[in-house]
Amino acid sequence: MKDILIIGAGPVGLYAWSCTGMLGLTGYIIEGNDSPGGQPWELYPEKQLYDMPGFAEIKTRTFIENLITQAERNSKQITYFGKTNILTVAETNDGFTVTLTNNEVITVKTILITSGNGVFTPIRLEHLDASQEYANLWYAVKDLTTLTNKKVVVLGGGDSAVDWANHLVEDNITNNVTIIHRRELYRAKESSVQKLQQNKITELKPYHIKDVQVHQHQITSLTLEHESNKTTLTLAADYFIVQYGAKVAPTMLDQFSVATTPMRKIIIQPSGQTSHAHIFAAGNCAYYDGKYYNMVTGFGEAINALFNITKIIHGNKYHPGYLSDIKK
Ligand SMILES: Cc1cc2nc3c(=O)[nH]c(=O)nc-3n(C[C@H](O)[C@H](O)[C@H](O)COP(=O)(O)OP(=O)(O)OC[C@H]3O[C@@H](n4cnc5c(N)ncnc54)[C@H](O)[C@@H]3O)c2cc1C
Repeated sequence: MKDILIIGAGPVGLYAWSCTGMLGLTGYIIEGNDSPGGQPWELYPEKQLYDMPGFAEIKTRTFIENLITQAERNSKQITYFGKTNILTVAETNDGFTVTLTNNEVITVKTILITSGNGVFTPIRLEHLDASQEYANLWYAVKDLTTLTNKKVVVLGGGDSAVDWANHLVEDNITNNVTIIHRRELYRAKESSVQKLQQNKITELKPYHIKDVQVHQHQITSLTLEHESNKTTLTLAADYFIVQYGAKVAPTMLDQFSVATTPMRKIIIQPSGQTSHAHIFAAGNCAYYDGKYYNMVTGFGEAINALFNITKIIHGNKYHPGYLSDIKK
């Protein structure tokens, strides 16, 4: 039986993975998405972070890559399963037997839940084969340089669609940007909407996508239909960035007998412990009065929870000392 299962490899789960390894604990970490990194990786990889201790400024993508590199140093002790979720959890005398969706059955003494806001997947463009990848169709912007001087179409009318359209022009990536929205009014900050005109972004609204033209796994053009007068037009481009938002997969919390808030956040003690003595939680999935939700808060909760988990594994008198002293 291993010491711990960490559920979710967002920033907080990744940091917990690093610390778990340094603490000499053994176990597993699972991530429901294709890749680790959580919300920062999926939603805002190109954003600059200004609130990370020790970094005056760091790009989110670089920060998450650093977290992954740091965590993977401990992959001998902690096994990572990607694209894997919880199927069932059964309590035993000394821990848990957990069946995973990748058919692995694991036994662990403790569980640390770092599931954030759940496994979310971007809402996809219709009219396409969902099993296919299209190289120039992006649901997250992960590499801005590829878009340099390209013709880019942004689909969506929320904050992220409007912000990306502006960002591409304001940061001199390209000045050939079109935004397509199915309503007349955007659902974005008024100040950002006003910048669309200043940035000379072509606005096509209210239009919906009637068809998508594909050639050799690349989108070549879109057929748009006007919402009211039903006229159609065809729009070709080099890259298509879909910002329709995300849907969250059903939570696995029903598998656990832990107390939650009405909003399904897990209530934790200062120790990180939930209402179950051997289940802990940290990061965006965890709640206590007065909590400020950001990464640094989650990192603190994770290391604190792990400190208390070592006491379950090694006994109450155990004190691990500073992690940098035990793992150089
Ligand atoms: C637009 C935006 C900008 C932000 N800017 C900042 C900022 O500048 N600074 C800052 O500190 N914070 C910022 N935040 C907040 C920050 O992203 C969150 O605080 C942080 O992502 C929480 O990390 P987490 O690991 O707890 O959860 P998440 O990032 O949500 O990660 C949870 C992970 O767990 C996985 N998961 C969930 N359930 C399961 C399951 N059952 N099985 C397997 N895997 C599972 C998910 O797929 C996901 O990868 C921002 C948030 C947003 C939306």
